[in-house]
Amino acid sequence: EFAEISIKDIDQIAKSSFPLCMRHLFEKLREDHHLKHGGRMQLGLFLKGVGLKLEDALAFWKAEFSQRVGSERFDKEYAYSIRHNYGREGKRTDYTPYSCQKIITSAPGVGDHHGCPYRHFSEENLRAALGKMGLSNRAVEDVMDKVRNRHYQLACTLTFEAVHGTSCDAGINHPNQYFSDSQKVLQ
Ligand code: SF4
Repeated sequence: EFAEISIKDIDQIAKSSFPLCMRHLFEKLREDHHLKHGGRMQLGLFLKGVGLKLEDALAFWKAEFSQRVGSERFDKEYAYSIRHNYGREGKRTDYTPYSCQKIITSAPGVGDHHGCPYRHFSEENLRAALGKMGLSNRAVEDVMDKVRNRHYQLACTLTFEAVHGTSCDAGINHPNQYFSDSQKVLQ
């Protein structure tokens, strides 16, 4: 369904077309060269959904993790679960990327970066993140209004509309839908 994406384009695509939950995980991975289990699952399955092939996924995660734990430990402890996500290990289930509903109802703990920023960030951190995405003060206030009323997916929809300068009538209900709608607007 989705076109393939390659590792060399991934930073630019993350900036233009990832929803905030995935931008945050992506940036933390680049910064810390590490993500805990919940973050690896949420981002890893999303990347699979946007069309990152298994070989590229392994290279992408290894380039980061090996800076922290070394490439030997990456191969031993982390490569398996990436292949597993792609249905190449264990029961060979082809795991599907998480929906907004699943992400919003997850419970990230200390040191976790998964979850939905509209639901799980402090107000201060969310405002800063939205500013970094280029939202005007007015747009930020509109988003915060939805957040206060616990309409997290509507908050994400308003962010999409502000970032892309277009309406998103269907609303956002899946991070991979945010991505594909964004690519449609940008292409
Ligand atoms: Fe991600 Fe969905 Fe939250 Fe948007 S509403 S940040 S796509 S989980």
